[in-house]
Formats: sequence, C-alpha cells, structure tokens
Amino acid sequence: MTGLKSFPLDLSSQLTAISTQCSECGACVKSCAFLKHYGTPSAITRNHDFTQVSFLAMAYECSLCGLCTAVCPEKLEPSRLFLTLRRIFVAAGHFDPSVYRTILGYEHRGRSRLFAYQGLPADCDTVFFPGCNLPGSRMATTLHLYEKLRSIIPALGVVLNCCSKPSHDLGRQDHFEAVFGELRHTLQGQGVRRVLVACPNCYTIFHQYGEGLSVQTIYEYFAVEPGTVPFPSAWGAISVHDPCAMRNSEGIQQAVRKLLSAFGLEQVEMKHQGPRTLCCGEGGMVSTVRPAFAERWVKLRRKESGGRRLVTYCAGCCGFLGKTMPTVHLADLLCQPEAVRLDKIPVTRPPLTYLQRLRLKRRLQQLLR
Ligand code: SF4
Ligand code: SF4
Repeated sequence: MTGLKSFPLDLSSQLTAISTQCSECGACVKSCAFLKHYGTPSAITRNHDFTQVSFLAMAYECSLCGLCTAVCPEKLEPSRLFLTLRRIFVAAGHFDPSVYRTILGYEHRGRSRLFAYQGLPADCDTVFFPGCNLPGSRMATTLHLYEKLRSIIPALGVVLNCCSKPSHDLGRQDHFEAVFGELRHTLQGQGVRRVLVACPNCYTIFHQYGEGLSVQTIYEYFAVEPGTVPFPSAWGAISVHDPCAMRNSEGIQQAVRKLLSAFGLEQVEMKHQGPRTLCCGEGGMVSTVRPAFAERWVKLRRKESGGRRLVTYCAGCCGFLGKTMPTVHLADLLCQPEAVRLDKIPVTRPPLTYLQRLRLKRRLQQLLR
C-alpha cells in the first residue's frame, strides 16, 4: 500500500480536534461495535497513521450513523471523521468498486433511462420523489402515496430516480456531486421548487445538497391532517425506530409520532430514540465488509424493542430490522391500514423489486399521460 503525501486540511483539523479534546469518556464506545473494536476516537487517532492508505480502509467498518457525535459531551464529530477518511481513500484511487458492485449497480440502475422517470404536469412546482427502495419493495403503497398526495396537490409531479446516497456514503464525493448536481439542475430547470420525499436518506441528500429546492417528508405533510383509523388494542403497544438519517430532525420525529397517535396506537419509547437512535445495521454499507458490526446494531435494537412491534419510516431500516423482528413501514400504515392490521402487506424482495419499479413507472406514465 502506498502512502499519502500529506493530510488534506479538513482531515488535519478533525484529527487535531479529536486528539486534543477527546477525554476518552467512553460514551460513544458503549453501543458501537466498531469503536469497541478499535478504541475511543482519541485512541484511533493515536494508533493509526492515516497517511498510510492501509489505515484509511478501516473507515468502511463504521456505519456513519452519527450516534457517537450525538452523545459526545465535547461536541466532537467522529462520524464526520470516518466519512472524511472514506473520501480520502477514494481520492487516493484505492477504492475498489467491485467490492460494492451490488449497491453501486442498484444506484446506477435507479438513474438509468430504463428505471428513471419524470412526470411533470403543467404548472408543476412540487414533485413526489419516492426513492428506490420504497417503489421496489412496496409498489402499491408508493402508487397510493402519489395518488393521495395528488388529491391534495393537483399539479403534483413525480420523479423516479436515485438520490445517490450510496456513492455519497462510500466517499465517492466527486461522482456523487456530479450525478446529484445533474438531477438537481434538471429539476430546477423544469420549474420544480419543492420535493416531497418518503425516504430519510433522500431527505438528507436533498436537505444537504439540494440548494434551491425545499424538501419535506410526506410524514410531516400528512401529520397536518392525519386520518384516524383506530387500531384494535389487540395489536398492542409499538415502538418507533427513528432512522439514523433522521436523528437531528425533531420535527419529522414528532410528525411520525403524531400520525401513530392518530391511528390509536400506544407508543413505548425505547432507550435509544430520536437524537440518540441506533443504526438499523444497514448504515454505511458496513455489512459488506464487517457483517458482525452490522449485526450488533440489530441485536441491540431487538433487545430494546422488548418484543414489541417496531414502526419505522425507512424502507431500508424496515428490511434490515424486519429480518429478525416484526417491523412495519409507516407508509404502509398510511396507505393500507387494513392490510397492515391483518399482517398482509405484500413486501417484494430483490431481484423482483426491479420488476415492481418498472410496473410502477408504467402505472405512473398511464396516470400522467
Ligand atoms: S458506527 Fe456510528 S457510533 Fe460508531 S463510530 Fe461510526 S458513526 Fe460513530
Ligand atoms: S464521547 Fe467524545 S469525548 Fe467521549 S470518548 Fe467519545 S469522542 Fe471522546
């Protein structure tokens, strides 16, 4: 492995902040298998020479969930450091895309002519952007969401595309900025000013990089006037799993709880929720290189759920947690409450998800003809 000639300035300042201010209190280490393995952020900066590319690769074992940053009494940002290390690894030319070919292929297809679609009616300045996972896993719910939103916003458009969060999180920053920049530019050029999203990852990307576009989640949108369909008490109490991409979005967390209250569901908060929520295990694509670290998050979440059903608002979290515990997507609850009540929500698994996305595109093209 080759070395880097010097630290990029941003990395130097982050390393200095951590090495001089981290008191090694251990708050960030408690729940994180990655930090348990490598030590406190201060120990990591002491024990690793990041001018050596071989040390940079360890950043791909961090889930980028941000819990360390949320709990740090010194207001340090270890999660930002690990993303920076990923970016430097890529910039140094050492990233091997074949390791992540499944997720990168998924992202690429989401942007391709075959899967992407823009339906923009006359006078459209607001679009629904459902992302990739929801349309693939829950085609009927996605279509229902669009119809529900369009009954309120008659000129609502729809955009099927990928926000390219996987490239962002893998540190492929130049690539990410090029492809997302093109998407943003295209939308703005067609008069779009507001984007309604269903996916927390899309929200994060539009919020951080969607300059000139306002972004809102459908959960905030529907929370203003929630429909009330009380659930039978037999369903029992539920707990909300906040996706880590939403840990700093208190308004969205509250909107979700408001919607669940409107459904008559009793909610029990878990120890890690809101700003201190846990990763579902899927974050940072860690399971590709360190499945044991990803599994550790799932185990913690299962323990905290105490056997209760989880409700979340991210299709990725729903899929990852749903492998080992009952997990419901709030979008299904909003669109198909009866099916959810009867545990009969059809969830499509890969590779059939691609077929569902093509079916959705066809249906939307017919609707917007
Ligand atoms: S996995 Fe999460 S808590 Fe652990 S270091 Fe990475 S961002 Fe921080
Ligand atoms: S929580 Fe902050 S101060 Fe404590 S060990 Fe982690 S980075 Fe250091």
